[in-house]
Amino acid sequence: MKLANGDVINVITRDKEYDGGFIQSQKKDIITVKLNSGYNIGINKKEIKKIKLISKNKTEKKVFSFNFNKKLKKISILHTGGTVASVVDYKTGAVAPRFKPEEILNMFPELNEIASINSRLIGNIWSQDIRFVHFNILAREIKKEIEDGAKGVIITHGTDFLHYTSAALSFALENLPVPVLLVGSQRSSDRGSSDAGMNLINAVYFAVNSEMCDVGICMHNSMNDDYCAILSGLKTRKMHASRRDAFKAINSKPWALVDYRKGEIKYVDKNFNKKHNGKLELRLFNDKLKIGLLKSTINMDAKQFLFFKNYDGLVIEASGIGNLPTSVLDRYTKEHKKIFNALKTLTKKTVVVLAAQTIFGRLNMNVYSNQREMQEIRVLGHLNDMTPETTFVKLAWLLSNYKKETKDLLFENLRGEINERLMSDEFLDKNF
Ligand code: GLU
Repeated sequence: MKLANGDVINVITRDKEYDGGFIQSQKKDIITVKLNSGYNIGINKKEIKKIKLISKNKTEKKVFSFNFNKKLKKISILHTGGTVASVVDYKTGAVAPRFKPEEILNMFPELNEIASINSRLIGNIWSQDIRFVHFNILAREIKKEIEDGAKGVIITHGTDFLHYTSAALSFALENLPVPVLLVGSQRSSDRGSSDAGMNLINAVYFAVNSEMCDVGICMHNSMNDDYCAILSGLKTRKMHASRRDAFKAINSKPWALVDYRKGEIKYVDKNFNKKHNGKLELRLFNDKLKIGLLKSTINMDAKQFLFFKNYDGLVIEASGIGNLPTSVLDRYTKEHKKIFNALKTLTKKTVVVLAAQTIFGRLNMNVYSNQREMQEIRVLGHLNDMTPETTFVKLAWLLSNYKKETKDLLFENLRGEINERLMSDEFLDKNF
């Protein structure tokens, strides 16, 4: 039986039965079914006992071909890799990053009704493999899309380090005239439980309907499949290894909640950049820079710090409101004098900045005498409320573009990375 995209079928496998729309799969041994819930499921042909055609898709051309409807806003989707753009290899069970962009659009035909979609594969990389040079490649591609008339750009991206890229793009794209949204998913797009479709469609819906001209992240807001949160590219972090609502606003609120099915955008905090008259400029990363990120622990030794003496910059995740083990308090803590001296050596050669290991809250390095001693030797970080990852990216970006002014600009709010006043409803117990 020759099936076409959108045909309504009934599939009986060894242990289950599915009703839904047929979607041509990239892999010969798999068929994909769009279930009534909106989810897609990939079924190995070997598992199938019977397929019944219930009705032919009469609107196939209209629904499943790319829509270049001039009345709809032009949105570009750039694929960089990650689970959102992956398929399960049903032989091995592994998830492989080799999804064609056209196939994502065919799987989520709703996209074609919201915008005129242009989609390109610009990379196929897991986010843990990202290097500074990838930020530059991506920023250039985004600029190209905007200059070609895109009114919004969506980036599909691996989730692990998605918040590094969102921070990097926030700094690299100066005077952004359109929304740029990063989208990931915790389950590959051809799995029944995938969150890819909802994240992607909500991102496109928000890009089309919002006045935001900034870099944000669009991911599930909760475990329910209703709203996605639009989060700041600079004040967000992956906070769970596997939940679909893993991304949370840190020391800030989500900008908005969006549900394309209801046609609803609920703004929570419009603390994003809007339309302006500036010209889009790129300020890229020096890919030769070496930046470290060290977590302070108990029982440290000075060598751990001195390892970074030839680095261009070092972020240290300090404990509490900005502490490192630099106090000699008894005969067992003599190493801490050496740690203090190691910091002194480092700050003469490189930029050393503290960020909060607690993730939430702000550092205050004026409270304890050990902190004041650190400030005297130019360990920076006083009043830092940026995540360690945003601090890392900002340090790299400043050293790339404003080397001489780096120390002064680190704690100047350049793009919305610093929240002047932290509110009590910006912590985990608050549900939006
Ligand atoms: N570790 C991979 C990445 O971040 C896959 C995880 C995901 O996309 O959720 O690219």
